Amino acid sequence: MSDTQAPEVLKDARGRLEKIYEKLDVSDDARQRLAHPQRLIEVAIPVRMDDGSLQVFQGWRVQYDLTRGPGKGGIRFHPDVSAAEVTALSFWMAIKCAVVDLPYGGAKGGVCVDPKKLSRMELERLSRGYIRAIYDVIGPDLDIPAPDVNTNATIMGWMADEYSNISRRQEPAVITGKPLGLGGSEGRVAATGDGALEVLRIWTERQKKSPKELTVAIQGFGNAGYYFACAAQSLGFKIVALSDSQGAVYSEKGLDVHAIWRHKNKTRKLKGILYSESSVDEEKDVDHISNKELLALDVDVLALAALENQITEDNAEQVQAGLLLEIANGPVTSQADKILADKKIPVLPDVLVNTGGVIVSYFEWIQNSTGDYWSAERVSERMKAVIAKESETCFDLADDEQVDLRTAAYMQGLKRITKAMDDRGTQGYFNGDS
Ligand code: NAD
Repeated sequence: MSDTQAPEVLKDARGRLEKIYEKLDVSDDARQRLAHPQRLIEVAIPVRMDDGSLQVFQGWRVQYDLTRGPGKGGIRFHPDVSAAEVTALSFWMAIKCAVVDLPYGGAKGGVCVDPKKLSRMELERLSRGYIRAIYDVIGPDLDIPAPDVNTNATIMGWMADEYSNISRRQEPAVITGKPLGLGGSEGRVAATGDGALEVLRIWTERQKKSPKELTVAIQGFGNAGYYFACAAQSLGFKIVALSDSQGAVYSEKGLDVHAIWRHKNKTRKLKGILYSESSVDEEKDVDHISNKELLALDVDVLALAALENQITEDNAEQVQAGLLLEIANGPVTSQADKILADKKIPVLPDVLVNTGGVIVSYFEWIQNSTGDYWSAERVSERMKAVIAKESETCFDLADDEQVDLRTAAYMQGLKRITKAMDDRGTQGYFNGDS
């Protein structure tokens, strides 16, 4: 895909690469390979609707780079999905898997659909149809999909089942993020939030600070934001603000994330419950603020766990937090990165911070391949060990090279990808120069 066809997100990611190539001694061969996705397939998925009509949905699977192993990346169901977006996301997956040294390349899938408009049976037919369409390019040693926006464990279960129906053998390792009964892993649901906290914990320790003295605001109180909030609160961080798509709550004294989550699940509303769900004073000392105000709070940590492009050149100047933690994918644009750097606000980057989910997906793949299933404690312990090791390496690299944390994380990932490429032979080797 040429740069003129690529969406902003892909241009942004490739633009960041140029800066890093300058820092690393990257061969021309590797640069050329990384300029293009290795494989991009477009499929048409015919689905019989409940009223008897036929609808054809467009879908894609992109394998950006498979040098370090089979592809790994989620499947997104969304009306705005395009080949360009899926390509950008597959590129990020390649970097992310390399940052935490998983033996995977980067891939991603998408189907252009508004799943909320489908019945459950139509959704099942579409999910199975997508797997029939991409069957030849996926497999436990080839490319292993997982859930992403608007897809979940149930859908992964249907997809893995369809794959097994076609291959006529049990192959649970073809897809991760499955329900527990179909070979899913313990600990997957909390993995992204828990992993993000581990990165923050290590960073805090290196700054010689204690969680108890730090305040946290969280944008996005969904799966990743909730588990992060729980883990952070139990380590002693004070969660002073939370937001979802409807609005935000703030309390200087700290919020009770469990009570707020229970209330939100019952009523679908974010309400500032303090310490006791039954208290009549539940909203005393809690302010309702706007989502915009949450992003500008004077807190020690601003965790971004909602969507991409949240801190942009329009609002970066207003950010007062001491540190940004990117739990979502791409919440800070590259223009905003520059403004934050001028303000000396460090950003713990997505390609390191939100890897807990893909690490546990890797564990699911190992468990499916070996038939040896692990306890939740073992999964969590091993995930944190991987994150801790790779975070320390990344932070040391940033210190040694005097670069920001995002550049250091990209350098860490790219070094591994380009080494794998160069180990297959370089221009110098074939010319007999080295
Ligand atoms: P989710 O849908 O469960 O939660 C998203 C939350 O963000 C919801 O509470 C929603 O109301 C809120 N939100 C949406 N727009 C908002 C806005 N403008 N302001 C404030 N809040 C807003 O999704 P999730 O699984 O928690 O994922 C969140 C982000 O983390 C996504 O970018 C996702 O790609 C990324 N991520 C998630 C995982 C995972 O395992 N869940 C793994 C890696 C990356």
